Amino acid sequence: MKKAASLPAVLLIATAALALPLSGNAGQAPGAAAATPFVRTITQVRGDVYKVQSGPGIGAVTAFLVTSEGIVLLDPINNEFAAWLKAELATRFPGKPVRFVVQTHYHWDHARGGGVFAATAKFIGHASMPGKFTAKIRDARPPGDTNDIDGDDRLDRQEAQTGTRVQFDTMDANHDGFLTQSEMLADVRSPEITFADRYTITLGGKRVELIHAGGRHTSDLVDVYFPGERVLFAQDYVWPKRLCCNFAFDRMPMSTWINSLKNLERLDFDTFIGSHWEGGSRADFIAVRQYLEDLEAAVAAGIRAGQTLEDMKKSIRLEKHKDWIGYDQLPGFIESAYTSLTQYPAR
Ligand SMILES: [Zn+2]
Repeated sequence: MKKAASLPAVLLIATAALALPLSGNAGQAPGAAAATPFVRTITQVRGDVYKVQSGPGIGAVTAFLVTSEGIVLLDPINNEFAAWLKAELATRFPGKPVRFVVQTHYHWDHARGGGVFAATAKFIGHASMPGKFTAKIRDARPPGDTNDIDGDDRLDRQEAQTGTRVQFDTMDANHDGFLTQSEMLADVRSPEITFADRYTITLGGKRVELIHAGGRHTSDLVDVYFPGERVLFAQDYVWPKRLCCNFAFDRMPMSTWINSLKNLERLDFDTFIGSHWEGGSRADFIAVRQYLEDLEAAVAAGIRAGQTLEDMKKSIRLEKHKDWIGYDQLPGFIESAYTSLTQYPAR
């Protein structure tokens, strides 16, 4: 029997708890609510690929593929979520344990909780991921705008920003009022299988392609392609019809972002899953890349013309994207692009 066929398209689990936005991004996302009703959903995307949402809005999204020999799971998100998901999978797909967990990057809002699947799964990630566990916070920063400003390699409440501040007490295991890298990554599994550019998981006659598309957002970022279903899981932050990104594009050259999306466009997919917000079609994906190119071009032209940042905030309109979510925050994204272009130019 094909188990997928018996699954309801959407499984809703609602509790009285509140879901707080777990991730800052090059992202406190436009439209992110401070607190929204907690909902977990498993949704069939196509064939045996499902997406799982840990909460509405910016709550993290992960995905899995069901095969005859077990399940390939992407990010485990956190311990509580992983325990819930493990029970759901056991009920829905009995006798099909999670055989692989793909750690798409080291950020705590995606990577925690893998231990729940350690008895049956192998863990895979990019070759630069293991080094994040011992890196200084300044060199492997949490998501969002958090930074170790005073250089003591721990975060106080003022240094912790966005989602890291929201989750401060949850992650401060010894309650000393500081977060260390090891506290933030406490239940993140270091991958036992690593790769540099591409890695193919084969299980039950199906393939899952792991792709390092240039390291936008974090140097170890992995996107995941399901060729049999023509579905792409695009990690942080590919948001259809939603303006992005804050924090000087995670202090990276904008070209790193644009080139990574161009690399992914070479894949034969027609739908994609996003890691925080809704996914979309191939056309939506391409429109995100075009928006980034439009923003980069407009700001670069302003710099060449000798405009000040304030001039650009007033004059750059990107009318093509005026219907996108977050358009009212365009001046902030212009500033982010300006900082990326002037302080983090393409190498
Ligand atoms: Zn991230």
